[in-house]
Amino acid sequence: MDVENVVIIGSGPAGYTAAIYAARADMKPLLFEGQRLGGQPGGQLMLTTEVENFPGFPEGLMGPEMMDKFKKQAQRFETRIVSEDVTQVDFSIRPFKLTAGGKDVFARTVIICTGAQAMWIGVPGEEQYQGHGVSACATCDGFFFKDKEILVVGGGDSALEESLFLTRFASGVTIIHRRDQLRASKIMQERAMKNPKIRFVWNTEVQEVLGDATKMTGVRVLNNQTNQTSEIKADGLFVAIGHKPNTQIFEGQIELDQKGYIVTKSGSTATNIEGVFAGGDVADHVYRQAITAAGTGCMAALDAERWLAGQE
Ligand code: NAP
Repeated sequence: MDVENVVIIGSGPAGYTAAIYAARADMKPLLFEGQRLGGQPGGQLMLTTEVENFPGFPEGLMGPEMMDKFKKQAQRFETRIVSEDVTQVDFSIRPFKLTAGGKDVFARTVIICTGAQAMWIGVPGEEQYQGHGVSACATCDGFFFKDKEILVVGGGDSALEESLFLTRFASGVTIIHRRDQLRASKIMQERAMKNPKIRFVWNTEVQEVLGDATKMTGVRVLNNQTNQTSEIKADGLFVAIGHKPNTQIFEGQIELDQKGYIVTKSGSTATNIEGVFAGGDVADHVYRQAITAAGTGCMAALDAERWLAGQE
């Protein structure tokens, strides 16, 4: 039976960074790049426009371009990359068993970097009109809304970033937020407030996405201060209300917190299973940045290497 030193699950900044470090420590890592985003590995940065806050890129660069660079760097040190979703893990046996594409792989250590994904509001019509007006990715779908009216739900950095991006195409962008204060950073707030195409609707919740059976035509909203409902006409609705971790396959295998994020030991990437480590957004609901994901990916590779050395 072939046993891998380290298997890395996930191909965002955390996964690729773990691979770079593990490969350079001669651990010969095997990395599974997920196919969840329509066969596009690279994690959430594949859905981003310009990344301006990653040190070392003073002019900024596009998210997909950045992930391409991460991947090339991992491959330069001979990381083996498999384009399959890991669908099952068994951490109760040693070596650990992972199943992907119908095949089993065995590993002494596993680094989980499966990231997080966008959350949906969960109202009638939202799912029905996905791809027909409703989206969670401005980068992917913004282009289809040239000179159209767009709604964005959320009050965080994502909502404002998506809104600003969408003003390139849309005739107008209306941000619907459930409170009267934004959660987003001050700099993003200033940019959004200054943009003449953006307007805000406060204290308001989307109750239903309306449509004509082929495409969405607007939303029904509730003002949670006055309890009044009304309709807003629009061609598109972008949902930007946060993320949930991709940990479904680890349920019952590893300790997760109440929101489903992997619990790691303080100051380390170790999980409650010895030999299993986690880096990036899958174990971080606080920072969630490309740079912090890369940092914890690096830590996970070092932790795995040291743990393996300790076993020998
Ligand atoms: P977030 O900060 O958690 O904000 C989520 C927003 O959605 C909040 O305003 C929240 O409202 C609202 N919301 C949550 N559930 C809702 C629901 N069911 N219905 C309606 N509204 C709902 O998430 P995020 O904006 O995705 O940002 C996540 C992290 O990434 C943050 O740390 C952020 O700074 C970072 N980020 C940074 C950048 C950048 O630097 N350019 C870009 C994107 C994200 P409440 O405010 O009422 O809770």
